[in-house]
Amino acid sequence: MNTSDIHSGKARDRALASLRRAEELDSRIHAFTQLFSEKAIARAEEIDAGGAGGALAGVPVALKDNLCLSWGRTTCGSNMLRDYESPYTATAAQRLIDAGAVIIGKTNLDEYAMGSSTEHSCFGPTSNPWDLSRVPGGSSGGSAAAVAAGIVPIALGSDTGGSVRQPASLCGIVGVKPTYGRVSRYGLVAYASSLDQIGTLTRNIGDAASALGVICGHDPLDSTSSLREVPDFSRDLDAPVQGLRLAVPAQARNPANHPEVSRVFAETIEKYKQLGATIVDVDLPLIDHGIAAYYIVAPAEASSNLARLDGIRYGRRARLAPGEDLFELYCKSRSEGFGPEVQRRIMLGTHVLSSGYYDAYYNTALKVRRRIKDDFDRVFSDCHAVLMPASPSPAWKIGEKANDPLAMYLEDVYTVTINLAGLPAMSVPAGLASVAGAQLPVGVQIVSQAFDEARMLRIGRMFELATDWHTRRPPL
Ligand code: GLN
Repeated sequence: MNTSDIHSGKARDRALASLRRAEELDSRIHAFTQLFSEKAIARAEEIDAGGAGGALAGVPVALKDNLCLSWGRTTCGSNMLRDYESPYTATAAQRLIDAGAVIIGKTNLDEYAMGSSTEHSCFGPTSNPWDLSRVPGGSSGGSAAAVAAGIVPIALGSDTGGSVRQPASLCGIVGVKPTYGRVSRYGLVAYASSLDQIGTLTRNIGDAASALGVICGHDPLDSTSSLREVPDFSRDLDAPVQGLRLAVPAQARNPANHPEVSRVFAETIEKYKQLGATIVDVDLPLIDHGIAAYYIVAPAEASSNLARLDGIRYGRRARLAPGEDLFELYCKSRSEGFGPEVQRRIMLGTHVLSSGYYDAYYNTALKVRRRIKDDFDRVFSDCHAVLMPASPSPAWKIGEKANDPLAMYLEDVYTVTINLAGLPAMSVPAGLASVAGAQLPVGVQIVSQAFDEARMLRIGRMFELATDWHTRRPPL
């Protein structure tokens, strides 16, 4: 499917086809937390009647359920917000709507976007469309599965430490995390505010360019959103980057990577060489410290962001027994409302911020973060982009790592440093791994300089034009 396919047909027919496919498949995949059938059809009819139009007129889209909409519920996959109705709509969602997109539903996620497998949701896990016994990655696993299964051509996710790129890699689709500040975070339920960024999940780079063109750009409602002008990402998309220099960090060839990931990565490098790129071997030693720094900074910010969910200002309120007081109300509400992974993050976060540990943990992590950024800047003085795997493993079995938080965190080794540095990056389908009789997608990650998304997309497009991995579909 190329870009033009998302722009053809009547909006109503497309909304119906999308909803029908969701109804047919979702009892098995469980990508959605809610479908907005009636509202979607009504909106599509309005568009067909000429009432609205734009760059995405009539395109069915899905939103990760941590993006606020002024209808339905915004659950974050959490018992705490299971019944929460947002009074307003996230800017990124509003821009899609204004461009004519039809919102079909909200997608499943790890609770508050904390996780790498979409198993930590109060609604239960999402399955990978390529093998229903496996995870789709996370935390935007519902969005990735909905696109991979052909339910919608475009979904939004959020990426704090890899949550768009890693599920894209595990589901065989394109996942783009723009530069920090490129897309307004207004209406995205905050996980770790200095790292959070909204991104796109699509079947190909052309569709990503169309969607990014709509959602990127300054928003007065988010003071961290950039004032930089947004280029037309679709223009010149097919023009190859002349004299392309791609950096490959030694750390990306880690022997701990799954052998099929190593094979696909090596083949991708070869393909770029055939396309005329110069491969530059570099050293980014701080990649190895990314996980440690990220799992201090992210929980620290999360513990602060989630403090408002106390059963009074926000969130589900626990029932009190006679004689119990305010303190018990907080404790009970938060113990009942948050799942175990979120509780773990809050405890980690408050610990690293507590007096006596603040310098040893939080301040040290900030110093590492600074050096990670400097290291990338050094590489970009000589290269257009960095090439790395998006994930060290293809999709694993549901349950395999659910009770081993450290094993789960280590899956984020190639993605978290990018958020710490605030850079744009994307995962592009690059091969299929044979694992225990299953064919599982493997993505490769292209990392670019801040605000250089347009060239990053072109670098990815060179590979897409020369391969057909993005056309492969799961055996559903
Ligand atoms: N897996 C990472 C975490 O659990 C990243 C999540 C994300 O990007 N939202 O923090």
